[in-house]
Amino acid sequence: MKSDWERLLGLGPKFMGTRSADKAASFLAEQLSIAGYEVMRQEFSYLGWVLKGEPYLKIIRPVARRVEAYPFLWSGSTGSGDTAGNISGQVVYLGKHNIWGMYDWDKFAITDESGAILGYISGRPAGPAIPQVLSHGSSRLPHFIVGESTLRELHEWIGRNLDPIVEGSIWCEYAPGTVGANIIGRPRVKSPGQRVVVSAHYDTMYNTSGGYDNAAGSACLLELARRLSKDPVAGTVEFVFFGAEEWALAGSKAYIQAALESGNMRDIKALLNLDGVGRGDELEVWVGPEPFETVVQGLIRETGKTSGREVVYKFPPPPGSDHAPFYTEGIPVCMLTFNDQPILHRPEDGYDEKKLQNMAFTVDLAERLARAFSEPAFLAVPGPVLGSGLNMQ
Ligand SMILES: [Zn+2]
Repeated sequence: MKSDWERLLGLGPKFMGTRSADKAASFLAEQLSIAGYEVMRQEFSYLGWVLKGEPYLKIIRPVARRVEAYPFLWSGSTGSGDTAGNISGQVVYLGKHNIWGMYDWDKFAITDESGAILGYISGRPAGPAIPQVLSHGSSRLPHFIVGESTLRELHEWIGRNLDPIVEGSIWCEYAPGTVGANIIGRPRVKSPGQRVVVSAHYDTMYNTSGGYDNAAGSACLLELARRLSKDPVAGTVEFVFFGAEEWALAGSKAYIQAALESGNMRDIKALLNLDGVGRGDELEVWVGPEPFETVVQGLIRETGKTSGREVVYKFPPPPGSDHAPFYTEGIPVCMLTFNDQPILHRPEDGYDEKKLQNMAFTVDLAERLARAFSEPAFLAVPGPVLGSGLNMQ
């Protein structure tokens, strides 16, 4: 598992649409095949987005200083054609910007002298600047993200009527109809019937090798696939490496779309998703619906000691990973994560022994859960009756 993880780390950022992401997909497909699985490349089309130059954001007034800032994935551009372009204007506070249906960030407008909006700045309230996706889709306007300290300064300057002015550039373009792929491994059986899906996304944000998010989850999934090929379960387990998770879950949404179109959605008994194996001692289990949560709690409790790790359950499962489109369709989902916010979507998310220790723990637990879920006698619990409680526009 360690060498798989190092291999994925060594590819650098695996941003969807880049050669590194393709190489990761090929590597995972090859390894599944070597482990004896039938491998499928499930292609899907999504709105591609390419950064064409080095973005920046500078404060012009009341101090002159460059600040750390990232463009949102799917930000609009300051440039056109061969020109990076830039915008400059006064920063005014607008209100809130909800990210992923999970975080409320403060949102500011960059305005010209007439008050017209030239672009936006969203501020992460805790921690440094990180890129995120504009989960509502594309924008005509450039869209910057700053961290906690810049956010605090903007509020302070606006509060003291110092009318802060910034200048910034995001040179990027959309690439509609870009083709990505999920990599699927299935046991070679004639009629698979009901199956458990175990998944991890192999893509990363554009600025990081994604040691924890999610080279770690991918390496765990590959290890689990090898274990279950040597010592098969009674039922069927399918392994899915999703692409474009960072793109508002484009890969898992495509997977669900294909299942809906084939009419085989009800063949999926449950989904176990591995996303983010960080350095901490707290395992988050995002699980639902509640009858399934009760079952999962029982299974985890039966493992006895959890090796000094605390287990925290989150219900309903927050929408920020590939389990969400499954849950929306009423499929029981369980997502395991060692959430590591200080390095999420940061260049610092590289190699760390603590991640490896948590990966060893995660793969053992995932194996136990996958085996239990795939037992033919394992009762598929009914999906949410009154809707999932998710709002996934
Ligand atoms: Zn992730």
